[in-house]
Amino acid sequence: MIKFLDLLAINARFKNEITARFNAVNDSARYLLGDENTNFCKHFAEFCGTNYALGCGNGLDALRLIIQAYGFGKGDEIIVPANTYIATILAITQNGCTPVLVEPDIDTYCIDPNRIEEKITEKTKAILVVHLYGQACDMEKIWELAKKYRLKIIEDSAQAHGAYYQNKRVGNLGDASGFSFYPGKNLGCLGDGGAITCNDEELYFKVKAIANYGSHIKYHNIYKGINSRLDEIQAAVLDIKLQYLDEDNEKRRAIAEKYLHSIHNPAITLPHAREKNAHVWHVFVVRSPKRDELQAYLKEKGIETIIHYPIPPHKQEAYKEYSALSLPVTEKIHREVLSLPISPVLSENEAEFIIETLNNWKA
Ligand SMILES: *Cc1c(COP(=O)(O)O)cnc(C)c1O
Repeated sequence: MIKFLDLLAINARFKNEITARFNAVNDSARYLLGDENTNFCKHFAEFCGTNYALGCGNGLDALRLIIQAYGFGKGDEIIVPANTYIATILAITQNGCTPVLVEPDIDTYCIDPNRIEEKITEKTKAILVVHLYGQACDMEKIWELAKKYRLKIIEDSAQAHGAYYQNKRVGNLGDASGFSFYPGKNLGCLGDGGAITCNDEELYFKVKAIANYGSHIKYHNIYKGINSRLDEIQAAVLDIKLQYLDEDNEKRRAIAEKYLHSIHNPAITLPHAREKNAHVWHVFVVRSPKRDELQAYLKEKGIETIIHYPIPPHKQEAYKEYSALSLPVTEKIHREVLSLPISPVLSENEAEFIIETLNNWKA
């Protein structure tokens, strides 16, 4: 069986380094907010090209914290793509804000920049872009709109660590960005982890306090905060893996290019990368009207695939209030997408077998 993602093999490459750093943390008895956290955040900010990075508990918290720090709440609207992972929407509604769902571009699966302006009202506070599947959104028009209507741009960068738009990295394309280090992400730890990046000092200190019970000084609470921290062990693992991230993304890119050149089956639609460096191929998503049959066929041939995602947020039971919305592009995507195996440890032979198997599929 070719696994969708072989996490054991991915992390085995760093086993000795991880064990050494784990032992050092264990022996230090400093488990939270110590040197590992400080160093990783410094290195991650340098990597993204931002002034600041703050470690936090997970990707959902990163986004929630940004929205809270901006003071957005009840009555405020946040524009967001309709075809995202549920966490993006939860970050908005958990702050009491209203998500305004916008259709994606069918070629890139990122928010369609030409469908944003019609959704802007007096209540709009921010555009929350999602660099979905690993591809940086087309930002030019979004920057223009944010300037024209004085909106914040928040990035959900959970799937796109290291991707570029023009000469800037994801995480540095808006006012603030949320990252996830969930194990399966391009930069993943051995549990939960997340980060916020930004260039604004005031915002940085505010999210930092909110993530720490609302305090800068112990037992002095100036905000109604939460507890969301990146622990020392996870920070150490991330600091090790960050050194290899560009290299790993390059390996994903090589596989993606192989797939793009060699999969020739008229029943399968391949993904589209706007520019080479814009995409870090968190997932390689193909489309077919007979998606379920394709998935069953691949399973029978020993190839594991995943659907990102089977149900769009507005059709989830948790968001019944949006179920009547008509979002045909989003709904088509959720009916047709299928993610093929791709990772820094997928072998050439495996990739070739996947290509051959797809080319032999009779829809
Ligand atoms: C993974 C993910 C998140 C949430 O990250 P967690 O660390 O699991 O909370 C948010 N948005 C997107 C697009 C994601 O893929």
